[in-house]
Amino acid sequence: SVSEPSNFLRQIIDHDLAGGTFIGRTNLQGEVIPAVITRFPPEPNGYLHIGHAKSICLNFGLAADYNKQAGGARCNLRLDDTNPAKEDIEYADSILEAVKWLGFDWGVHLYHASDYFEQIYAFAEILIQNGKAYVDSQSAEDIHTHRGNFGQAGKNSPFRNRTVAENLDLFRAMRANQYADGQHVLRLKIDMAHPNIVMRDPVVYRIRHVEHHRTGNQWCIYPLYDFTHCISDALENVSHSICTLEFENNRPLYDWIVSALKDAGVFKDPLPHQYEFARLNLTYTITSKRKLLQLVEERRVSGWDDPRMPTLVGIRRRGYTPESIRLFCERIGVSKADSWIDMSTLEQALRDDLEPKAPRATAVLKPLKLIIDNFDDAAREPCTAARHPQHPELGTREFHFTRELWIEADDFMPEPVKGFFRLYPPIGDQLGGRVRLRNGFVIECTSYDKDADGKVIAVHANYFPDSKSGTPGSNNYKVKGNLHWVSAAEAISAEVRIYDHLFNEPHPDSGDKNFLDVINPDSKQTWTAYLEPCMKDVQPEERFQFERHGYFVADSVDSLPGKPVFNRAVGLKDSWK
Ligand code: ATP
Ligand code: MG
Ligand code: MG
Repeated sequence: SVSEPSNFLRQIIDHDLAGGTFIGRTNLQGEVIPAVITRFPPEPNGYLHIGHAKSICLNFGLAADYNKQAGGARCNLRLDDTNPAKEDIEYADSILEAVKWLGFDWGVHLYHASDYFEQIYAFAEILIQNGKAYVDSQSAEDIHTHRGNFGQAGKNSPFRNRTVAENLDLFRAMRANQYADGQHVLRLKIDMAHPNIVMRDPVVYRIRHVEHHRTGNQWCIYPLYDFTHCISDALENVSHSICTLEFENNRPLYDWIVSALKDAGVFKDPLPHQYEFARLNLTYTITSKRKLLQLVEERRVSGWDDPRMPTLVGIRRRGYTPESIRLFCERIGVSKADSWIDMSTLEQALRDDLEPKAPRATAVLKPLKLIIDNFDDAAREPCTAARHPQHPELGTREFHFTRELWIEADDFMPEPVKGFFRLYPPIGDQLGGRVRLRNGFVIECTSYDKDADGKVIAVHANYFPDSKSGTPGSNNYKVKGNLHWVSAAEAISAEVRIYDHLFNEPHPDSGDKNFLDVINPDSKQTWTAYLEPCMKDVQPEERFQFERHGYFVADSVDSLPGKPVFNRAVGLKDSWK
């Protein structure tokens, strides 16, 4: 990696490598395995978002950075698919696609928690046999209330002292489809008075007669997250299991389960260990899959890939590059304290990535007709511009200067305010505004036309034939304004979508706010713009800097051959200078 900012996880890994705990360790089959194995474990119940990108960059990034030192360190991609009611193959596919797009490669190490169902079940039976798990037949409500509160012990279940034989029979019957949903659950027998409520006999299996997108109707009982996750980590020999802070209270349970299975001879040292880091919170957006799903289902956005969505498919369609997202994740770093990252940090990462590589192009977003009265109607003066000012090897764009041009409506003021150096008509003995039309000629405004309502509909100017850009005469003209333009005779028209934040509030889902109440009604504007002629043939997902406007991408869904549609990915920092 380009830079390796230190973070507390690197310090932990460095410490572990120095101590030798994980070096030369072997798996259950006796093969030597890497000292560092991380994993990214999404649940396929939605599309990945920018928060997940932080976790992906962290887990895959650590594996890449320690690859040499730690004997082939790697990151597993694991689909944590144990809650069939909410999961879907569409989501699973989109997750693989997103991780790949971000530039990470799991090689052969793609796993599914559902592949471990048989083993997880067997481990549950082992815990029952060791007196460490029991079948509880209380109602869900009773289980919940009997857990007690912080500072107040819970109450043992009347079923807590079932015999091993009875528990085994019941658990097998649960698996064998003999009960309805909710009739029984399997719980760990830990301590109903434990100060940490997570440890009060957590439920680890429940009955769910729901078809699973991979295992079909093979199972009617499903293990819960806390049980599945640590076991999956141990089965995959994960060394550093990195998750977000909300799982801090679950860490003792993680340790309890893997240790209990070590005591039972199932796992051996070194056991995997969980570490928590602060989740990404980004201003003006939300990073909860449940809420994003709600936006999609209620049609408040056009889909998961709406360019205003913080999903990776949305951000990609908006014009973000994988490099910009990796840069963003590098810049925000990894810490142990929750905080908010400003959306502008993400936007700046995109500018910094695209500035050196995005070809330049001209687009007039709010067109106003400019007529060069002293230019011959039939003439076409060839003009040229670099595709990228710092990269002559990228070649040039060719276009023509003609009598009728399009300029930005904002570049003309009938009554100029002080300091306005663009186009305005002569007033009294003051000359009209004089500007350079980029890569063309210097012109001087002579008059303008308005319609019956007083709206400006055309601007008139004369050009100076010896002022053409790139010719010696051009140096004789000193002008303060430098405007972009396209020839009305050859410009192509295109739909351009200008986006703003999806929410009006920097923290749309914090406090007692309902995120649906703070949706920005003006988050998408659709304009018809005029583009220079070479833009006709752009490919979907090609990105450009439209000079003076920002970075734009040809929409990957709605662009047609010869008829691109553009999304503004991000504006220029200092537009209108
Ligand atoms: P949700 O709670 O919205 O359903 P989740 O956070 O549980 O989603 P998972 O699919 O379980 O989503 O997440 C996969 C991994 O991504 C987890 O390790 C999780 O900690 C991490 N992750 C999820 N959201 C963020 C975030 N905002 N910042 C950093 N990491 C995140
Ligand atoms: Mg989750
Ligand atoms: Mg979550």
